[in-house]
Amino acid sequence: MKSHPVPIIMYHSVRPARNPKWVYSHLTLELPYFIRQLEYFKKNDYYVASLDEIIAHKKGIKSLPARSVCLTFDDGYLDNWVFAFPLLRKHGFRATIFVSPEFILGETDVRPNLEDCWSGHSDTAALVSDGFLSWAELQEMQKSGIIDVESHTMTHTFYPITDQIVDFHYPDDFWIWLKWNADKMVKPFYMTQDQEGLVSFGTPVYESSQAIVARRVDEDGTLTNYIVNYVRLHGGAAFFSRFDWRQELFSVSQQYTKQHSVVYKRETETDYFLRLKYELAESKQIIENHLSKPVSYLCWPNGGWNEDTHAMALHVGYVATTAKGSSNVFDSPDPTRLLRMGLHQVGESKTISRLFVTYALNAHREVWPYAQLRRLLRQVGATPILKKLLY
Ligand SMILES: [Zn+2]
Repeated sequence: MKSHPVPIIMYHSVRPARNPKWVYSHLTLELPYFIRQLEYFKKNDYYVASLDEIIAHKKGIKSLPARSVCLTFDDGYLDNWVFAFPLLRKHGFRATIFVSPEFILGETDVRPNLEDCWSGHSDTAALVSDGFLSWAELQEMQKSGIIDVESHTMTHTFYPITDQIVDFHYPDDFWIWLKWNADKMVKPFYMTQDQEGLVSFGTPVYESSQAIVARRVDEDGTLTNYIVNYVRLHGGAAFFSRFDWRQELFSVSQQYTKQHSVVYKRETETDYFLRLKYELAESKQIIENHLSKPVSYLCWPNGGWNEDTHAMALHVGYVATTAKGSSNVFDSPDPTRLLRMGLHQVGESKTISRLFVTYALNAHREVWPYAQLRRLLRQVGATPILKKLLY
């Protein structure tokens, strides 16, 4: 018998308001929306399933109620501990958090959260929620039985894959992964520290892709040094206030490469394989060691995966990954694949956001006429507003 699809919701950060200074602020679901969604699940008798139950359901071992949903959080943001965890506990729900060990803090103390405010020990305004979770907080959440911690690979980064320059590092840009790759020890602090000194202004940004699928191509450093030096001699950070700075750097780099040979080193198959092993097996092992529990699920950062990496993940012991099947299916019968959906903040009014949640959940559950409506919307084409409704 075919099991009915259960929507697996993908959240990231949950906090009172988006932080406009954070480069990924669009990943925040603001608290009023999150609370309304939890209340919606409660009011509409949704059963909140774990990933283990989803797999058992797909395999036909366990049957889940028609109205079921599964909640997941990516990246391991501190606000998951500060806001999401207390609210989930309050509603009697549970969730999975996918973390990348390179972004976890080694701290042994847990920071104040909403529960401390409810008990009068802290003030909501005083809660700190920028940054990433610590192992202590993950341990406490795992121990509670409310949160299950799973893997989001080790690095969650991007690497250059060709010798094509697409941009240059400039002040406050969104090429955050340049800094992540420059010093992995300080990655968990990129939201809270000024890390501008880690990468020199003018550093070329090459065509790149997600670490998992990238075949790295690394420049020998000669061109980078030349451009960085050029920027330094022409005002440093102030150089980027020129309106045509980008054009100027492209032409400086072209002139340099005409006269000098720059060597690019392509990663060998062996090196790629070892890197994948680090991403998949090492992250699993580290989380298992810290939390004393099996890690069975893998979430691909930025959706970067292919059939080979999915097979390798299963080979190193994962039960399932967030690998999709064909792009047109909303749920895969394959129990090794977890298809997820976003539940974005749409509309200021409570009615509009309730309608959106109703539509999105029912469409994913293949309920008439919502599923048919979504197919229709897909055919019409993904204009920006429709795109929000489609996924
Ligand atoms: Zn992520």
